[in-house]
Amino acid sequence: MKKICVFCGSSPGADLAYLQMANKLGEEIAARGFGLVYGGSNLGLMGEVAKSALDNGSNVTGIMPKVFEGRVQHPNLTELIVTDTMHQRKAKMFEISDGFIALPGGFGTFEELLEILTWSQIGYSSKPCGILNVNGYYDELLKFFDKSVEMRFVKKEHRDAIIVDTDPKKILDKFEKYKPVIIDKWIDK
Ligand code: AMP
Repeated sequence: MKKICVFCGSSPGADLAYLQMANKLGEEIAARGFGLVYGGSNLGLMGEVAKSALDNGSNVTGIMPKVFEGRVQHPNLTELIVTDTMHQRKAKMFEISDGFIALPGGFGTFEELLEILTWSQIGYSSKPCGILNVNGYYDELLKFFDKSVEMRFVKKEHRDAIIVDTDPKKILDKFEKYKPVIIDKWIDK
């Protein structure tokens, strides 16, 4: 495990616990000698996780599409990769990262998280994916995932492969032991 990609809000959110958790996650990534990969901005939880990882000695790679370049980028990144498009940016994030963690966030975060989950169930990704469920932020989404299993749109094995915890240490410990689910995606075909 070398590089952890973090998806998270470009806003700080309404609960101080979100910023605190972004800080703790950056610290934990650095403590394990891992690098951080993320969207490259200095805003909200994104800025906080990057600051914390950098302050604690981690290498931080920001990957942003050129529309954002020079507007919101973090000033002290170890490396900044600028891509032509959003899609190229996400492909690069996937290519260079060994695991993915979603902190609280908005549509951008949901989209990034769900893309990795989608890729896992079709065997395109064999990398672990976790959700840091700070103060129950993701409870409703997780419930909805359960409903999608119950309604036979998602296999239980794929739902259960999502690593959910409130402690970054536990998520990263589980990443070390992660085994991808290798089963057919389709139900009732
Ligand atoms: P959101 O959760 O809607 O705030 O979007 C956050 C996610 O979208 C992050 O994980 C980023 O990868 C991407 N993103 C949103 N805003 C920015 C930004 N200003 N700079 C770089 N990436 C961003």
